[in-house]
Amino acid sequence: MIPGSFSYHRPSSVQEAVGLLAKLGDDGRALAGGHSLIPMMKLRLASPANLVDLAGIADLKGIRSDGNDIIIGAMTTQHDLIGSDLLGTKIPLLRETSLLIADPQVRYVGTLGGNVANGDPGNDMPAVMLCLNATYHVTGKGGERRIAAREFYQGAYFTALEAGDVLTAVRIPVPGAGHGSAYEKLKRKIGDYATAAAAVVLTMSGGKVASCSIGLTNVAETPLWAEEAAKILTGSTLDATTVKKAVAAAEAITAPASDARGPAHYRTKMAGVMLTRALGRAKAKARG
Ligand SMILES: Cc1cc2nc3c(=O)[nH]c(=O)nc-3n(C[C@H](O)[C@H](O)[C@H](O)COP(=O)(O)OP(=O)(O)OC[C@H]3O[C@@H](n4cnc5c(N)ncnc54)[C@H](O)[C@@H]3O)c2cc1C
Repeated sequence: MIPGSFSYHRPSSVQEAVGLLAKLGDDGRALAGGHSLIPMMKLRLASPANLVDLAGIADLKGIRSDGNDIIIGAMTTQHDLIGSDLLGTKIPLLRETSLLIADPQVRYVGTLGGNVANGDPGNDMPAVMLCLNATYHVTGKGGERRIAAREFYQGAYFTALEAGDVLTAVRIPVPGAGHGSAYEKLKRKIGDYATAAAAVVLTMSGGKVASCSIGLTNVAETPLWAEEAAKILTGSTLDATTVKKAVAAAEAITAPASDARGPAHYRTKMAGVMLTRALGRAKAKARG
């Protein structure tokens, strides 16, 4: 199918984009890499009368340090995340996750901002952002505000973004020195969305877990932060009994749909398997 007709706008500043989106209201939609939005338009699941392309706004690109945080511009592509030495050193989880998204063609244009703003439970970055305790910088009619990723997702395709808002950047606190991390994703084939996936960041001290955070992808209407599971693991040596308890706690908060990727029960169990694997790999990478 081909999309319905639309007008195309290309602002050169965030203020101009916000002004346009505020004026257009429900008739306008931000366009980033277009690799979620354009397929939706081709299926006529979205029919915005106006697209406001963010590609001409230089301020929305780039990766930089700000104290103990890394700030990534919303229009930074998944390919840019993979190639960043700064991220490779400070938050290698982002490179690992990006490499599991789609294929190189999608990653060359798909952006971090689009991936986290989209609200599709199948997107990989949102659960990683919950795991990393990221904050989203959003500019709208009333100026700039910051929204914790852990409070951003409200339902499938429902987020804390309001009409006229542009997500400008993602702020991520650098995980503790010597941390280990992993993203484990089960998919049916290369380029597929997750049947279930798990992100883990942990630090170890004296052979015990000093801190732990867990995010789960595509096993509910929103990405999940598995807080209780992480609490169970903290202070443990990640022995098999404790891991089993934590996995049960993580599985208990899932509510996946039964779909072409499998029945709900299977997807819940696969989330547990992905979490077990991610914990093992994160521990192996952690120092301390
Ligand atoms: C074949 C294929 C396979 C894929 N596989 C995966 C996968 O395995 N995992 C995965 O995570 N993703 C996957 N994707 C999606 C891909 O990662 C998209 O690029 C991403 O979801 C959206 O980013 P985008 O820059 O393309 O955003 P767009 O498609 O341009 O926008 C997506 C939505 O976010 C809104 N938006 C975008 N940027 C902003 C902003 N800065 N502020 C406010 N709103 C904004 C748009 O209005 C739109 O509603 C796949 C896509 C394809 C085509």
